[in-house]
Amino acid sequence: MDTLKRIKYEVITKAAKLALKGNRILSERKFKTPKRWRTDILAPPLKIGLRTKELVTRHYLEGRYAEGAKPVAWVTSGAPVEILKALGFYVLYPENHAALCGARRTALELCLEAEKSGYSMDICSYARCDFGALISGKTPVGKLPKPDLLLCCTNICQTVLYWYRVLEKHFNVPLVVIDTPFLYREAEEHHIEYVKNQLDKLVEVAERVSGKKLKFERLKETLRLSKMAAELWHEVIQTGKNVPSPISVFDQFIHMAPIVEMRGDAETVDFYAEMLKELQERIEKGVSAVVKERRRLLWDNLPIWYKLKFLSEFLAERGIAIVTSTYTNAWGELAPMMDPQRPIESMAKTYLYPILNRGVGHKLKTMKEMIKDYSLNGAILHSDRSCKPYSVGQIDERNRLISELGVPALLLEADHNDPRAYAEEQVRTRLSAFAEMLES
Ligand code: SF4
Repeated sequence: MDTLKRIKYEVITKAAKLALKGNRILSERKFKTPKRWRTDILAPPLKIGLRTKELVTRHYLEGRYAEGAKPVAWVTSGAPVEILKALGFYVLYPENHAALCGARRTALELCLEAEKSGYSMDICSYARCDFGALISGKTPVGKLPKPDLLLCCTNICQTVLYWYRVLEKHFNVPLVVIDTPFLYREAEEHHIEYVKNQLDKLVEVAERVSGKKLKFERLKETLRLSKMAAELWHEVIQTGKNVPSPISVFDQFIHMAPIVEMRGDAETVDFYAEMLKELQERIEKGVSAVVKERRRLLWDNLPIWYKLKFLSEFLAERGIAIVTSTYTNAWGELAPMMDPQRPIESMAKTYLYPILNRGVGHKLKTMKEMIKDYSLNGAILHSDRSCKPYSVGQIDERNRLISELGVPALLLEADHNDPRAYAEEQVRTRLSAFAEMLES
């Protein structure tokens, strides 16, 4: 690493940290609901949003100066990142960056850049977004740091394997693949051993790239912080069991960035503790995320990032609150498996269990439990054109929710990041009809 770059990184990021914190504290003092906010149908925005903005801005700002100053890794969302964090890597999640592009409505432009260079429209829109950003250099966050290491874990899909091979070729840096056998039932000892051996290999490569030796105590502490953050995030989601719910799934989508891309940081733990406190205050005061909550739903699959505002208002106008989702729950449900005293062994197990690495039976069971635990009246299953592993089996899942639990369930076709796969009029018509059915 370059000493001058390191000094520049330390000076700029420390100054930025102070400035962003000061700015956030000032904004908290004069916190007001934005003029265009629909207070007739929605609770005022959560104040924690100012912290989310602070953390995310800082994360990408650190990235701008990280190149050459500290080791940089690009990783998949379900990667065992604690090892890299404990070795001092700056970690970038291309999927999160793509989600941010989706929410800021720049994803289509980036997808088109990728398609112009020959990447098929049938590739996941997160991957296309990332390729578009690589090719054009465009990003709403200013600049992405070049990686020194790529870490791809196949526990979410196989697309990431091909995606990271493209990155390997583009950047000419080492790629570590953690292959996670798909779990049709529970993990067997040989599955865990197989992943553990790959984690040992990851440690070797990451030590070589970073020029440091992994300190076991540091790894334990990082995993402890990851576990605490995941537990708090789970508690945050579970406030949605309250009737009326103080939180909507749209709030969860907006505030999930730290649990995905800042796992292992002490500030992520503080962040979710603060968020939980704000939600508990809402419960005490009887504040409902959807002002006139009459019907409560489950969301399945990724968000439609470029339509969060529209969907939130369209449903709230009809008294519909989506209070939980299989997607946001996935970042909390694995917390009990993390054991900081046995970091490598427990990570080998934990990272086998993400929802997308398990049979559809597990997802259906989770949905059924959620319908009971959250007192839900129905479900919306986003059939996501890009995310085949999440969408496979949804027709059966919908039919079984209807026939076995007697709750209405709607399949809504779209794409999480590519607006060309979304038809607004069709969505309005289908949601209106569904809302009427929920009332009957
Ligand atoms: S296909 Fe699904 S799981 Fe895979 S990268 Fe795309 S959105 Fe993520």
